[in-house]
Amino acid sequence: MNLAKTLTFCQPPGRNYVLPNGKIAAAFFDFDGTIAECEPDFVRAKKMFWRFLRHLGFSKHEAAEMFAKIEHENMSLKGFEVHMLGEAMAQTYRALCKHHGKRVNSDDELICREIGRHPYWRKPREFKDALPVLNRTQHNFLMVLVTIGNREAQKYKAKMLGLQFDEMIITSESNKRLLVANAIKDCNIDPRYSFMKGNSARSDGDVGHVTNVIYNPLETGLKFDEAELPKNTGFEVFLVKSWREAEEQGIMRLVRRRRYLLGDQHTYAESAEDGMSQDMFNPMQ
Ligand SMILES: [Mg+2]
Repeated sequence: MNLAKTLTFCQPPGRNYVLPNGKIAAAFFDFDGTIAECEPDFVRAKKMFWRFLRHLGFSKHEAAEMFAKIEHENMSLKGFEVHMLGEAMAQTYRALCKHHGKRVNSDDELICREIGRHPYWRKPREFKDALPVLNRTQHNFLMVLVTIGNREAQKYKAKMLGLQFDEMIITSESNKRLLVANAIKDCNIDPRYSFMKGNSARSDGDVGHVTNVIYNPLETGLKFDEAELPKNTGFEVFLVKSWREAEEQGIMRLVRRRRYLLGDQHTYAESAEDGMSQDMFNPMQ
Protein backbone atom coordinates (compact mmCIF):
# COMPACT_ATOMS: atom_id res chain seq x y z
CA MET A 1 0.00 0.00 0.00
CA ASN A 2 1.19 3.50 -0.78
CA LEU A 3 2.80 4.94 2.37
CA ALA A 4 1.60 8.47 1.69
CA LYS A 5 -1.98 7.26 1.36
CA THR A 6 -1.69 5.22 4.56
CA LEU A 7 -0.43 8.22 6.50
CA THR A 8 -3.07 10.47 5.03
CA PHE A 9 -5.66 8.25 6.62
CA CYS A 10 -3.92 8.77 9.97
CA GLN A 11 -4.50 12.52 9.91
CA PRO A 12 -7.22 13.85 12.13
CA PRO A 13 -10.27 14.93 10.13
CA GLY A 14 -9.92 18.39 8.67
CA ARG A 15 -6.11 18.35 8.82
CA ASN A 16 -3.85 18.19 5.80
CA TYR A 17 -0.27 18.03 7.02
CA VAL A 18 0.96 14.83 5.37
CA LEU A 19 3.00 15.68 2.27
CA PRO A 20 2.80 13.79 -1.02
CA ASN A 21 6.10 12.09 -0.09
CA GLY A 22 4.56 10.65 3.08
CA LYS A 23 6.44 13.04 5.38
CA ILE A 24 4.90 15.63 7.64
CA ALA A 25 4.88 19.42 7.32
CA ALA A 26 5.29 20.99 10.75
CA ALA A 27 4.91 24.50 12.09
CA PHE A 28 7.12 25.23 15.11
CA PHE A 29 6.10 28.27 17.16
CA ASP A 30 7.85 30.19 19.86
CA PHE A 31 5.43 31.55 22.50
CA ASP A 32 6.80 34.56 24.43
CA GLY A 33 7.22 37.59 22.20
CA THR A 34 5.82 35.64 19.24
CA ILE A 35 2.28 34.49 20.10
CA ALA A 36 1.82 36.52 23.27
CA GLU A 37 3.24 39.75 24.62
CA CYS A 38 5.95 39.15 27.14
CA GLU A 39 8.17 42.21 27.49
CA PRO A 40 5.62 44.64 29.03
CA ASP A 41 5.03 42.28 31.97
CA PHE A 42 8.72 42.05 32.72
CA VAL A 43 9.13 45.83 32.41
CA ARG A 44 6.22 46.27 34.85
CA ALA A 45 7.65 43.73 37.31
CA LYS A 46 10.99 45.53 37.31
CA LYS A 47 9.28 48.90 37.89
CA MET A 48 7.44 47.41 40.84
CA PHE A 49 10.70 46.02 42.17
CA TRP A 50 12.53 49.38 41.99
CA ARG A 51 9.56 51.04 43.65
CA PHE A 52 9.55 48.51 46.47
CA LEU A 53 13.31 48.86 47.00
CA ARG A 54 13.04 52.66 47.07
CA HIS A 55 10.33 52.23 49.68
CA LEU A 56 12.85 50.21 51.72
CA GLY A 57 15.36 53.04 51.39
CA PHE A 58 17.66 51.71 48.66
CA SER A 59 18.71 53.62 45.56
CA LYS A 60 17.26 52.46 42.27
CA HIS A 61 20.50 53.07 40.45
CA GLU A 62 22.54 50.87 42.78
CA ALA A 63 19.83 48.18 42.80
CA ALA A 64 19.55 48.16 39.01
CA GLU A 65 23.32 47.66 38.61
CA MET A 66 23.36 44.81 41.13
CA PHE A 67 20.27 43.20 39.64
CA ALA A 68 21.61 43.28 36.06
CA LYS A 69 24.82 41.56 37.17
CA ILE A 70 23.02 38.91 39.24
CA GLU A 71 20.42 38.19 36.55
CA HIS A 72 23.06 37.80 33.86
CA GLU A 73 25.16 35.44 36.00
CA ASN A 74 22.14 33.34 36.97
CA MET A 75 20.94 33.02 33.40
CA SER A 76 24.25 31.82 32.09
CA LEU A 77 24.57 29.34 34.97
CA LYS A 78 21.02 28.08 35.43
CA GLY A 79 19.06 28.88 32.27
CA PHE A 80 15.57 30.32 32.03
CA GLU A 81 13.59 28.59 34.78
CA VAL A 82 10.41 30.26 35.93
CA HIS A 83 11.66 31.11 39.42
CA MET A 84 14.82 32.83 38.15
CA LEU A 85 13.48 36.38 37.98
CA GLY A 86 12.11 36.24 41.53
CA GLU A 87 15.31 34.60 42.70
CA ALA A 88 17.42 37.36 41.10
CA MET A 89 15.22 39.97 42.80
CA ALA A 90 15.54 38.26 46.19
CA GLN A 91 19.31 37.98 45.71
CA THR A 92 19.52 41.66 44.81
CA TYR A 93 17.56 42.56 47.95
CA ARG A 94 19.89 40.43 50.11
CA ALA A 95 23.00 41.91 48.46
CA LEU A 96 21.71 45.44 49.09
CA CYS A 97 21.02 44.62 52.76
CA LYS A 98 24.51 43.18 53.15
CA HIS A 99 26.12 46.14 51.43
CA HIS A 100 24.33 48.62 53.71
CA GLY A 101 24.59 46.55 56.90
CA LYS A 102 20.83 46.06 57.13
CA ARG A 103 19.06 43.00 58.46
CA VAL A 104 17.26 40.85 55.86
CA ASN A 105 13.53 40.77 56.48
CA SER A 106 11.99 37.49 55.32
CA ASP A 107 8.65 39.10 54.42
CA ASP A 108 10.38 41.70 52.25
CA GLU A 109 12.41 38.97 50.60
CA LEU A 110 9.19 37.06 49.87
CA ILE A 111 7.63 40.18 48.30
CA CYS A 112 10.67 40.43 45.98
CA ARG A 113 10.13 36.80 44.89
CA GLU A 114 6.42 37.39 44.33
CA ILE A 115 7.10 40.46 42.16
CA GLY A 116 9.39 38.31 40.00
CA ARG A 117 6.88 35.47 39.83
CA HIS A 118 4.00 37.58 38.55
CA PRO A 119 4.94 37.87 34.83
CA TYR A 120 4.86 34.08 34.47
CA TRP A 121 1.39 33.54 35.89
CA ARG A 122 -0.68 36.31 34.37
CA LYS A 123 -3.25 35.92 31.60
CA PRO A 124 -1.36 36.28 28.32
CA ARG A 125 -2.29 38.85 25.69
CA GLU A 126 -1.91 37.59 22.14
CA PHE A 127 -0.46 39.70 19.34
CA LYS A 128 -2.79 41.01 16.66
CA ASP A 129 -3.98 38.29 14.25
CA ALA A 130 -1.98 35.57 16.03
CA LEU A 131 -4.98 33.42 16.94
CA PRO A 132 -6.77 33.38 13.55
CA VAL A 133 -3.49 32.70 11.73
CA LEU A 134 -2.64 29.88 14.16
CA ASN A 135 -6.12 28.50 13.69
CA ARG A 136 -5.76 28.42 9.92
CA THR A 137 -2.21 27.08 10.06
CA GLN A 138 -3.28 24.00 11.98
CA HIS A 139 -5.18 22.74 8.93
CA ASN A 140 -1.98 22.37 6.98
CA PHE A 141 0.74 21.72 9.56
CA LEU A 142 1.49 19.60 12.57
CA MET A 143 1.51 22.24 15.31
CA VAL A 144 4.50 22.26 17.64
CA LEU A 145 5.15 24.73 20.45
CA VAL A 146 8.87 25.33 21.07
CA THR A 147 9.44 27.55 24.03
CA ILE A 148 12.02 28.33 26.66
CA GLY A 149 10.72 28.42 30.19
CA ASN A 150 8.96 26.37 32.79
CA ARG A 151 6.68 23.56 31.57
CA GLU A 152 3.75 24.37 33.85
CA ALA A 153 3.93 28.12 33.23
CA GLN A 154 4.13 27.75 29.44
CA LYS A 155 1.35 25.16 29.31
CA TYR A 156 -0.78 27.40 31.52
CA LYS A 157 -0.31 30.36 29.18
CA ALA A 158 -1.09 28.34 26.04
CA LYS A 159 -4.19 26.96 27.73
CA MET A 160 -5.34 30.44 28.80
CA LEU A 161 -5.31 31.48 25.12
CA GLY A 162 -7.24 28.35 24.17
CA LEU A 163 -4.35 27.03 22.09
CA GLN A 164 -3.79 23.37 21.41
CA PHE A 165 -0.60 21.97 19.97
CA ASP A 166 0.11 18.48 18.68
CA GLU A 167 3.50 18.54 20.37
CA MET A 168 5.03 20.76 23.03
CA ILE A 169 8.76 21.25 23.35
CA ILE A 170 9.44 23.19 26.53
CA THR A 171 13.03 23.65 27.56
CA SER A 172 14.85 25.56 30.27
CA GLU A 173 17.94 25.86 28.12
CA SER A 174 18.59 27.76 24.93
CA ASN A 175 18.79 24.69 22.68
CA LYS A 176 15.88 25.02 20.27
CA ARG A 177 17.92 23.99 17.23
CA LEU A 178 18.77 20.59 18.75
CA LEU A 179 15.24 19.96 20.02
CA VAL A 180 13.63 20.89 16.70
CA ALA A 181 16.15 18.66 14.86
CA ASN A 182 15.15 15.80 17.19
CA ALA A 183 11.44 16.39 16.51
CA ILE A 184 12.11 16.45 12.75
CA LYS A 185 13.64 12.98 13.09
CA ASP A 186 11.11 11.56 15.53
CA CYS A 187 7.96 12.78 13.76
CA ASN A 188 9.08 12.07 10.18
CA ILE A 189 8.96 15.79 9.35
CA ASP A 190 10.18 17.18 6.05
CA PRO A 191 12.07 20.34 7.08
CA ARG A 192 11.90 21.82 3.55
CA TYR A 193 8.14 22.34 3.92
CA SER A 194 8.16 23.19 7.61
CA PHE A 195 9.12 26.30 9.53
CA MET A 196 9.94 27.84 12.89
CA LYS A 197 8.27 31.19 13.67
CA GLY A 198 9.88 33.27 16.35
CA ASN A 199 10.95 36.70 17.54
CA SER A 200 14.50 35.97 18.68
CA ALA A 201 17.21 36.00 16.05
CA ARG A 202 19.44 34.16 18.49
CA SER A 203 17.32 31.23 19.69
CA ASP A 204 14.60 30.99 17.00
CA GLY A 205 16.87 32.13 14.16
CA ASP A 206 19.32 29.38 15.06
CA VAL A 207 16.64 26.83 14.11
CA GLY A 208 17.23 28.07 10.54
CA HIS A 209 20.04 25.51 10.35
CA VAL A 210 17.50 22.66 10.39
CA THR A 211 14.32 24.11 8.80
CA ASN A 212 12.92 27.36 7.37
CA VAL A 213 12.47 30.33 9.70
CA ILE A 214 9.78 32.97 9.77
CA TYR A 215 11.49 35.73 11.72
CA ASN A 216 8.94 38.15 13.14
CA PRO A 217 10.61 40.41 15.72
CA LEU A 218 7.46 41.62 17.49
CA GLU A 219 9.56 42.03 20.64
CA THR A 220 13.31 42.50 20.66
CA GLY A 221 13.83 43.43 24.28
CA LEU A 222 16.75 41.33 25.40
CA LYS A 223 20.16 42.47 24.21
CA PHE A 224 21.51 38.94 24.14
CA ASP A 225 18.68 37.95 21.77
CA GLU A 226 20.37 39.92 18.99
CA ALA A 227 22.26 37.77 16.50
CA GLU A 228 22.85 37.32 12.80
CA LEU A 229 20.21 35.24 11.08
CA PRO A 230 21.68 32.08 9.53
CA LYS A 231 22.70 32.16 5.88
CA ASN A 232 23.37 29.48 3.24
CA THR A 233 21.82 26.68 5.27
CA GLY A 234 19.71 25.34 2.41
CA PHE A 235 16.61 26.67 4.15
CA GLU A 236 14.92 30.03 3.84
CA VAL A 237 14.48 32.92 6.25
CA PHE A 238 11.25 34.87 5.77
CA LEU A 239 11.53 38.27 7.41
CA VAL A 240 8.08 39.64 8.30
CA LYS A 241 6.57 42.40 10.44
CA SER A 242 3.25 40.88 11.52
CA TRP A 243 1.23 37.68 11.76
CA ARG A 244 -0.63 38.60 8.57
CA GLU A 245 2.65 38.98 6.71
CA ALA A 246 3.87 35.72 8.21
CA GLU A 247 0.86 33.96 6.75
CA GLU A 248 0.99 35.64 3.35
CA GLN A 249 4.73 35.68 2.80
CA GLY A 250 5.87 32.57 4.62
CA ILE A 251 3.21 30.03 5.53
CA MET A 252 1.23 30.28 2.28
CA ARG A 253 4.36 29.99 0.17
CA LEU A 254 5.41 26.82 1.95
CA VAL A 255 1.93 25.38 1.44
CA ARG A 256 2.13 26.29 -2.24
CA ARG A 257 5.50 24.60 -2.63
CA ARG A 258 4.23 21.29 -1.34
CA ARG A 259 1.77 21.17 -4.24
CA TYR A 260 4.75 20.77 -6.53
CA LEU A 261 6.22 17.97 -4.53
CA LEU A 262 5.86 14.59 -6.21
CA GLY A 263 7.20 11.69 -4.22
CA ASP A 264 10.74 12.53 -3.20
CA GLN A 265 11.30 14.61 -6.31
CA HIS A 266 10.49 18.14 -5.34
CA THR A 267 10.53 21.21 -7.47
CA TYR A 268 10.09 24.61 -5.98
CA ALA A 269 7.85 26.86 -7.98
CA GLU A 270 9.94 29.99 -7.84
CA SER A 271 7.07 32.29 -8.50
CA ALA A 272 7.16 36.03 -8.32
CA GLU A 273 6.24 37.58 -4.98
CA ASP A 274 3.43 39.55 -6.50
CA GLY A 275 0.73 37.95 -8.53
CA MET A 276 0.53 35.13 -6.01
CA SER A 277 -2.68 33.30 -6.60
CA GLN A 278 -4.80 33.25 -3.47
CA ASP A 279 -6.51 30.05 -4.51
CA MET A 280 -3.23 28.15 -4.13
CA PHE A 281 -3.95 28.02 -0.43
CA ASN A 282 -7.35 27.62 0.97
CA PRO A 283 -6.90 28.18 4.71
CA MET A 284 -10.12 26.37 5.41
CA GLN A 285 -8.98 23.12 3.83
MG1 LIG B 1 10.36 34.59 22.12
